[in-house]
Amino acid sequence: MNARKRAAVMRGPMVLAWMVLAWTAQAAPQAKPEDTEVWKPEPRRVTPAAPNRAPSDAIVLFDGKDLAEWVAADAPDKAAAWTVADGAFSVRAGSGDIQTRRPFLDYQLHLEWRAPSTLKGSGQERGNSGVFLASTGKGTGYEIQVLDCAEATRTYANGQAASLYKQHIPLVNACAGRGEWQAYDIIWTAPRFKADGALASPAYVTALHNGVLVQHHVALRGETMYIGAPGYRKHGPAPIRLQDHGDPVSFRNIWVRPLH
Ligand code: MG
Repeated sequence: MNARKRAAVMRGPMVLAWMVLAWTAQAAPQAKPEDTEVWKPEPRRVTPAAPNRAPSDAIVLFDGKDLAEWVAADAPDKAAAWTVADGAFSVRAGSGDIQTRRPFLDYQLHLEWRAPSTLKGSGQERGNSGVFLASTGKGTGYEIQVLDCAEATRTYANGQAASLYKQHIPLVNACAGRGEWQAYDIIWTAPRFKADGALASPAYVTALHNGVLVQHHVALRGETMYIGAPGYRKHGPAPIRLQDHGDPVSFRNIWVRPLH
């Protein structure tokens, strides 16, 4: 077959294919913008957060007045013994960690903290506290670090403020100045476990420090460990715990929105 004949033979199926495509396009109903509009479910109305005001659907964990939503972590039937003054509460050194009265699974958390402006020591000794995003027992859970970071006293990067302690270094250092209030906004996805205790899916954390993204959907390798490798142990909904590390760190304007 010469080239001209071969081209003619090829042209036949091509013309047929074009005709089928043209017919299909003609037969299809005309697409409209409304075809891709979704009207249900309609999101429920929430009054947004404002300075010193929680969103309307949040559970307020501290409104400046009392520690009614908090208990002693080591004795959950006892009231939290930290100091409330001037619309904030502060670690009462040596009294122990405190934790929320209620357990939570997945949530959005807002809290503000302030390291003392008169600090001695260096590294981990300066304004150390912490937020355990799920408290799993005495001293255990998943900690996002609270630590003075206004001064140039370096500590290990995976232990500085806004680190997921010894697991994830913050993307940037978004610290406020010395003695200033700082905000954490945290999205916590709790780990899930199978019936036999095996891990089904890890915990995930997204966090903003003073409005700046510092942890971007990072997966945790397990509960925070001071020494050694992190690991998971099966647990369900858990309280949020604040750490007494011996420094009078203050907290205010704390609210949580459960996401389940
Ligand atoms: Mg700490």
